[in-house]
Amino acid sequence: MTLIGTILPMTSSLTGRCMCGGVGFTVYPPLRPVFNCHCDRCRRFSGHHVAATAVAPNGLVFATDETLGWYQPAVGVFYGFCRRCGSSLFFRTDRTPERISVMAGALDQPTGLATTEAWWVDEAADYHTRPAGLIEHGGDG
Ligand SMILES: [Zn+2]
Ligand SMILES: [Zn+2]
Repeated sequence: MTLIGTILPMTSSLTGRCMCGGVGFTVYPPLRPVFNCHCDRCRRFSGHHVAATAVAPNGLVFATDETLGWYQPAVGVFYGFCRRCGSSLFFRTDRTPERISVMAGALDQPTGLATTEAWWVDEAADYHTRPAGLIEHGGDG
């Protein structure tokens, strides 16, 4: 069934890319709502805070990954980025192999997604005023 003119984000695939186009991809549902992560690593990786949806690993399909690089700040923790333009793109960890986080800002607009939770708020930067209405968590649980 198709509802013409209605965005159905949780049942539709979305495309995304880095700034230069060296990494391009499609994500397939189900897509998690966007979570913000304020942890120290995500703050430095993103330059502010990470805002990411997440998909099952087989829900991320690359059109091109020619310039994709992975930085590993700790054993089993991986941040994906473009080696050419520097765009922040992905996060994955061996602790949660059932999902891969996809930076929401790398997706083509409109996404139809909404931000629902904030994580590691204890490490949030002091210049940032967090939006009201999100479910907040002090750490990773
Ligand atoms: Zn790029
Ligand atoms: Zn984080």
